Amino acid sequence: MIIDNHPFKVNELGHLEVGGIDTTYLASKYGTPLYVYDVELIRKNCRSFVQTFNNLNVNAKVAYASKAFSSIAMLQVIKQENLCLDVVSEGELYTAIQADFPTEKIHMHGNNKSEEELTMAIENNIGCIVIDNFNEIHLLESLLEKHEKQMDVLLRVTPGIESKTHQYIMTGNEDSKFGFNLNNGQAEKAFCLLHEHSRIQFKGLHCHIGSQIFETDRFLIAVELLFQELNTWKEKHGYTPEVLNLGGGFGIRYTEKDNPIPYEFYIEELVKAVRNHSRKMGIPMPEIWLEPGRAIVGNAGITLYTIGSQKHIPGTRDYISINGGMTDNLRPALYQAKYEGVIANKASHPPVRDVSVAGKCCESGDMLIWDLPVPEVNNGDVLAVFSTGAYGYSMANHYNRLPKAAVVFVENGTEKLVVRRESYMDVTKNDLHYV
Ligand SMILES: *Cc1c(COP(=O)(O)O)cnc(C)c1O
Repeated sequence: MIIDNHPFKVNELGHLEVGGIDTTYLASKYGTPLYVYDVELIRKNCRSFVQTFNNLNVNAKVAYASKAFSSIAMLQVIKQENLCLDVVSEGELYTAIQADFPTEKIHMHGNNKSEEELTMAIENNIGCIVIDNFNEIHLLESLLEKHEKQMDVLLRVTPGIESKTHQYIMTGNEDSKFGFNLNNGQAEKAFCLLHEHSRIQFKGLHCHIGSQIFETDRFLIAVELLFQELNTWKEKHGYTPEVLNLGGGFGIRYTEKDNPIPYEFYIEELVKAVRNHSRKMGIPMPEIWLEPGRAIVGNAGITLYTIGSQKHIPGTRDYISINGGMTDNLRPALYQAKYEGVIANKASHPPVRDVSVAGKCCESGDMLIWDLPVPEVNNGDVLAVFSTGAYGYSMANHYNRLPKAAVVFVENGTEKLVVRRESYMDVTKNDLHYV
């Protein structure tokens, strides 16, 4: 039996299975809460991006946005799949280096890169820095001078696209903390500045228009606006870009309401648009870079919890409480993100009522799922929540001094612990006595 809306099966015992392993076995062996990833799905997601570009015969780079889920094991899989990697901090770069990720395939982002971060990037010869603001241009040039090195860069621009109930409105002046505005001349000013710097190799433009996007329209408008700008730069300055980085943001399915389109479709549309615009402009087609995060890991991960207390409020609702919550999955509390789940040890039982799943933290907003249809549930049952692979572990925190959960990878019937569960000693490890 296949679980509705999610790429997982129910085994002959009626238990939820991931990558050929019974999730109730994983819960009892490794404890809960537990993040479980199906590595085969991660690989499949990587390959659908890479192979589509290959099939279209287009020069492209696909970089995994590691903020979605970064750990040494995860980056080892990304390395095996030959993707590039995006990092946004020293910590993410450090993790990549620990994973022995080829540094020339690492790109660095961030709207406030520190001197230490840029120095680490330069010393480790990373492949590209995506420049976000004027301060960074000057800081980078002086650090490159000091280290006597060169660096490839892209310029992050904000095309000013907003979506409003399926109507796309191009705002003249987008209010964003990221990048150089295309509409007020800042991008062109930055472009001119880059040319004064001999150690900075300007490769092209970057734009990332948002996340969990389900249509191609906004991407296509972004491409159009980028080419408008490039046209001006070509006429005024004789410039042609080598790279166009269109960011990430490809939507995935969290609940039955989400209807993601296949990644192949986004890529085909984008390639078509870039090809047409390049032809019109009379320039060779630039290399296309993409940066999916959520689309690589989101649907490949689930979280297992143990159900504890239940509360029936007559005429109002039934609550079940789990042994995790906003500490391991911040998204519902942060932006009302919606999830679906099943009782892993009763995955073949038909639902008999709706319950709302409460986290154990001292916040009323710590509700993981509202109105989840479930069979009769008991204390000790295991709840599996789907599509927690992106921005779950990476946003985990220690609120209420809860230790961070463990992460297990499964692939073709074997499982491996890849991030240990934290202990209480880990939770207090930086605390010092005062008296
Ligand atoms: C967050 C981010 C991504 C990845 O976004 P997803 O929605 O996870 O695909 C890619 N590029 C940049 C610059 C980002 O900030």
